[in-house]
Amino acid sequence: MSHVHIIGGGLAGLSAAIELSTQAQVTLYEAGPVCGGRARSYYDRSLDALIDNGNHLILSANALTFRYLDIIGSRDTLVGPGEPIFPYYDLAKDLAWTLRLSNGRIPFWALSRKKKVPGMRLSEFASIFRLLRAKDETTVEECLSEGQLSRRLLEPLSISALNTDLKTGSALLLANVMRRSLMQGGMACRPWFPETGLSETFVDPALAFLSKYHGIVKTGSRVNSIQKEGGRVQSFETTQGIINLGAEDYVIVATPAPVTQNLLPEVSAPDAYESIVNVHYKLPFVPHIQGVVARSKFIGLVGGIAEWVFIKGNILSVTVSAANRYAAQDNETLTSIIWSEIRRATNPVITEELPDEAPPSRLVREKRATFAATPEQNRKRPYARTDIKNMALAGDWTNTGLPSTIEGAIQSGLSAVSALGFRSAVFYTEKNL
Ligand SMILES: Cc1cc2nc3c(=O)[nH]c(=O)nc-3n(C[C@H](O)[C@H](O)[C@H](O)COP(=O)(O)OP(=O)(O)OC[C@H]3O[C@@H](n4cnc5c(N)ncnc54)[C@H](O)[C@@H]3O)c2cc1C
Repeated sequence: MSHVHIIGGGLAGLSAAIELSTQAQVTLYEAGPVCGGRARSYYDRSLDALIDNGNHLILSANALTFRYLDIIGSRDTLVGPGEPIFPYYDLAKDLAWTLRLSNGRIPFWALSRKKKVPGMRLSEFASIFRLLRAKDETTVEECLSEGQLSRRLLEPLSISALNTDLKTGSALLLANVMRRSLMQGGMACRPWFPETGLSETFVDPALAFLSKYHGIVKTGSRVNSIQKEGGRVQSFETTQGIINLGAEDYVIVATPAPVTQNLLPEVSAPDAYESIVNVHYKLPFVPHIQGVVARSKFIGLVGGIAEWVFIKGNILSVTVSAANRYAAQDNETLTSIIWSEIRRATNPVITEELPDEAPPSRLVREKRATFAATPEQNRKRPYARTDIKNMALAGDWTNTGLPSTIEGAIQSGLSAVSALGFRSAVFYTEKNL
């Protein structure tokens, strides 16, 4: 029987492991104490609460993600409004509205005062057409015309999807996201997020599934080097010893880009990163929420620092993407400015009055949250298939055609499986990626 060794227990490695579990013996080596990588939840002692390392939003359009969740049986752990609604608040104008996309592909929403982005002009749709025709080197900024559709929808969408500023963000990558979501109509844009935590949705059920199929997961097992000879991986060295490979052994390297480059210096990989800041505030009570936010449980913000606020029981969690721009700002100042933004955006959505001072909180800076999704960095992404016969690459930073996202990570795992010649939901051809 074939034996596939998967290095890295993030969602890319887990996606490959799940796909292979019925076709081969699988062993997964994860350097950290737990799997999940950049998408995990943990118990924060000082807050006495379970929090995600960062809020993650997915859309119904993320077909491979939902397929993965169906296989591991955890689709029901996601929550969302079940319809394509996005409550927003403009901090610069003190204006609240709800974007209500039409279910189908024709954007009737843009004609309705109650559904569209306030202040938008239909002529601004030209920005979307420019994005969809973008070339390899085009930036998002070059495609957007000025107006409220850009400011209140396309810019926040771009920053969230690419985690990169508009000036340098790749229009091509954003267009690929839009082709799979907005251009498919509202049903593809229904937002979802884990009700309890990322690990409870994406990781723990995957590990339970693997164990059912006799997959072996070795946590605390860092791979330090990979030995190749004659066009094949012959062995690799882990903190627990050397693994020698035979004719039926394969390797999927699903580690982050800088780690992969250390292990395999010949691999081309992105080398510039963007950070994401999350601030989790713990309220002394579970707030009562009214209006449309009672259904969505999140609000999008424009015109300030905070971009999304998620209401998870008594925890209010805020996301700030493309956060390298706030690197010099100290945690206390950020925590307090963002708190004042939340108070404004959630009044009167939260019926109780929120305190003037920020409640106990945890600020998490993920310094290398994603690769910088610029045209230059995008060109450095390698395909899953390598010159080494029994080795393939995976990870959200490989050439998936998508920015660093859960969908990209899961797709990359499937591409690696297919590149090694195993059955996979993603048929591997470099042209299609
Ligand atoms: C704060 C934040 C917010 C995000 N928000 C969203 C969102 O809203 N929507 C969305 O779709 N995506 C979002 N993302 C992106 C998403 O989390 C990632 O794209 C995805 O988790 C990447 O998975 P991966 O497996 O490619 O990489 P990783 O998660 O980095 O996994 C790599 C794994 O390899 C392990 N490893 C490293 N070195 C070694 C070694 N030498 N030996 C063995 N193992 C090793 C690591 O410990 C890690 O577990 C966000 C990311 C962050 C950080």
